[in-house]
Amino acid sequence: MKQVEKNKRLSPGAWVVTPLNARDRLTNEERALSFTVAKQSLSGWGRYKPQECAVYRPERRSELFSLLDSGAPRPFIPRGLGRSYGDAAINPEGGVIDMTRQNNMIRFDPETGLLECEGGVSLAEILEAFVGRGYFLPVTPGTKFVTVAGAIANDVHGKNHHCDGSFSRFVESFELWTPTRGILTCSDSENSDIFQVTVGGAGLTGVILKVRLRLRRVESAYVKVDYQRCNHLDAALEAMAASDKDYLYSVAWVDCLASKESLGRSVLMRGNHARVSELPGKLSGTPYRLPRRPTLAVPVDFPGFALNSWSIRAFNTLFYATNKDTRDKIVDYDKYFYPLDGILRWNRMYGKKGFIQYQATFPFSERAGLVKMLEHLAQAKCASFLVVLKCFGEAGSGMLSYPMPGYTLALDIPNRPGLEEFTRELDRILLDHGGRLYLAKDALTAPETFAAMYPNLDAFREMRRSLDPENVLRSTMSRRLHLDK
Ligand SMILES: Cc1cc2nc3c(=O)[nH]c(=O)nc-3n(C[C@H](O)[C@H](O)[C@H](O)COP(=O)(O)OP(=O)(O)OC[C@H]3O[C@@H](n4cnc5c(N)ncnc54)[C@H](O)[C@@H]3O)c2cc1C
Repeated sequence: MKQVEKNKRLSPGAWVVTPLNARDRLTNEERALSFTVAKQSLSGWGRYKPQECAVYRPERRSELFSLLDSGAPRPFIPRGLGRSYGDAAINPEGGVIDMTRQNNMIRFDPETGLLECEGGVSLAEILEAFVGRGYFLPVTPGTKFVTVAGAIANDVHGKNHHCDGSFSRFVESFELWTPTRGILTCSDSENSDIFQVTVGGAGLTGVILKVRLRLRRVESAYVKVDYQRCNHLDAALEAMAASDKDYLYSVAWVDCLASKESLGRSVLMRGNHARVSELPGKLSGTPYRLPRRPTLAVPVDFPGFALNSWSIRAFNTLFYATNKDTRDKIVDYDKYFYPLDGILRWNRMYGKKGFIQYQATFPFSERAGLVKMLEHLAQAKCASFLVVLKCFGEAGSGMLSYPMPGYTLALDIPNRPGLEEFTRELDRILLDHGGRLYLAKDALTAPETFAAMYPNLDAFREMRRSLDPENVLRSTMSRRLHLDK
């Protein structure tokens, strides 16, 4: 086993913070604590309805435990890099525990690819440390600025779900602090029921301290990608059904403003990790080196009207026109997996009022539901510039894990008057077709709607209650959806 050097911490740029004269607002109990605490206006990545929360940032594990044992106002909710779009990691009642300082890598076994690290390590830190050694993440969402614990708490999925399932499949075990049972090691074979309730459990069963994660061996930092334009949803779904099996990664960009004979026109972007022998000459000598790119940032909030159906239509037309059918294009992993990470604070593009993300999954048998939703979006001129469609494979074992076999569509919706009514209509289409929403994205759905989508909810609540009968852990989301009932 080899000791891995400690990585640089990421700047907490994920936070949506309104700086205020923090100390003045703290209670005496909060001030008495030795670790960092501040009152901050906090939201999810969508910046939708921020709430003022006391935020603790324990530097070390010992500080985390002192906080949990202290008289500081409860409940708490752990938070990673705040990349959930909605209210999963905010809590104005007690406090939010920022876990990003718990980001030590502990050990790595190059034979097995098994990495042991603290829960606050980010996927970006793992990539930085391990791609050069020939390892990649086994599953990655569309941003690398998420923590390993955050990835478990939402059991995140990537473009390879149809082949590999979601993140928890590659988690050998984790260490969890629980309110009633202390620290437990959880895996498929040890405390497996607690493993299953924690995976996708939205931080409500305990605080994930350490994780053992299996990385994937790769020969390069590049993906060999085929781009294929499809002039209608049917063509895209048929192409995916026919040949997704040839690709480890598959995703489609969808023009959600296109309608009628162009409904759901898409660009499929499917690929596999490139072998060294597949790289062009100039890259084959340094297969793990990424091209240098300037980091861009959105410096201010865009005015709310900047992203409208006209500007998005222009963007969509251009995107569709420029992405011609191409085979075997060699693309670096940053560009393929994380196109938005290259623009820091891109969430400001939706203006001060923020936006929500809506992710809907329909069972394969309910293609009509997907069509209905796309028709509804096109009719409403719903202006989202990044709409993605994927096919999910088998569901995992997490009680509230999101993926199930079917089509999944994700899009941003700006916060404009009528947003709630609009999402209620989308929820109705989803319910009528046996579909479900994703906790990592949700900010608005009603508890009854959520309950109708997740048959294991009662079992989740019961198990959670046994671990946390006094509700030491709660969030705005858990209150809104009655997850902690
Ligand atoms: C641009 C973008 C693209 C995305 N693409 C995808 C995608 O393709 N697939 C996908 O599945 N998701 C995707 N997401 C969502 C994102 O992957 C998840 O929301 C992820 O959980 C965020 O992790 P985080 O570290 O930011 O956690 P946070 O958002 O801070 O918290 C998420 C949850 O984790 C819990 N949590 C955090 N730390 C701990 C801990 N130590 N112990 C216990 N619980 C904890 C929190 O309480 C909360 O419930 C995307 C998000 C963005 C912004």
